[in-house]
Amino acid sequence: MLLVYRYRVKSLNGLLNKQARAVNFVFNYCNDRQKDALRFDRKWLSGFDLNKLTTGSSKELGIHSGTINAVCEQYAKSRSQKKRPYLRYRGKRHLGWVPLKGRDLRETPAGFHFNGREFKVFKSRTLPAGATIKDGTNFSQDSRGNWFLNVCVDVPAAPARPIQSGIGIDLGLKDFATLSNGERIAAPGLYRGAEDALALAQRANKKRRVKAIQSQTANRRSDFLHKLSTRIVREFDLIAVGDVSAAGLARTNMAKSVLDAGWSCFRSQLAYKAVKHGAWFEEVNESFTTQTCSDCGAQPDSRPRGFAGLGIRRWVCSECGSLHDRDVNAAKNILSKLVSGSGHRTPAEGIPVL
Ligand SMILES: [Zn+2]
Repeated sequence: MLLVYRYRVKSLNGLLNKQARAVNFVFNYCNDRQKDALRFDRKWLSGFDLNKLTTGSSKELGIHSGTINAVCEQYAKSRSQKKRPYLRYRGKRHLGWVPLKGRDLRETPAGFHFNGREFKVFKSRTLPAGATIKDGTNFSQDSRGNWFLNVCVDVPAAPARPIQSGIGIDLGLKDFATLSNGERIAAPGLYRGAEDALALAQRANKKRRVKAIQSQTANRRSDFLHKLSTRIVREFDLIAVGDVSAAGLARTNMAKSVLDAGWSCFRSQLAYKAVKHGAWFEEVNESFTTQTCSDCGAQPDSRPRGFAGLGIRRWVCSECGSLHDRDVNAAKNILSKLVSGSGHRTPAEGIPVL
């Protein structure tokens, strides 16, 4: 499976800025040639054609020849993906981007070796042993002007673990997630302090400060999601998550998109981390999971339902008398839906958690 390892680059940022300008030059050259092809009614250029046209320009431009090839190929790919006759020119307002070929990058203890230089990075983790670096690797800049190295690596998927423990996850508004073992995970309280600071900075028209606060918030949110998804994938062999979307839940459009982004980000992290660690992950249709009793499987009269039931946090099943926490009950149902639906094991024999 392909994974991207992202590192903040410590050194040579000035060089990268310079190279990014050369990359834009190559990209715009490709765009010009494409426009020529249109004007003179010639065959549209493929990445291969563009590579031939740019051969030998590496020394003059001060960038690696692999970078030039990667730009040409990416240009042709983007153009056909976007189904456009030509693309917009890259300029100052674009965030810096320096692609490279995987074969030209080598890992060193403190960073990465590329094009005769060592780029030092904040090495939060090393590449997995035996991983091959693939094309698609690039340096890219964020809105604050910091450079990052995104290393594409091919990692062998772990063999599937025997299924000994399972967990159902109910994603929600009040708590970020509720697990079928009763654990609640609160949404990170990111906004209170940040919101005031952001408003202040926006009123004062301090653009750098605004960007800093926004990216801090984004970083904290992604840190939270990554830590949680990693922990769950390590702890449990079978993971079921409801397919909730915010469309019917949240009030304003703004809140909806933020919630949806968080949930789908979390689900996709679980999906790829599960493959990496040999766990089993599946998304489960959520309908009726709040309304069914997880003990007896009935949909009793006392269940929370309809608009009036939205505020009900705890309820007693009128069929079997068990007391339910709304979200934990939903999470349990999500897990048993996966267990019974996919024919892994029946709940009674297979999974001790149930
Ligand atoms: Zn019941």
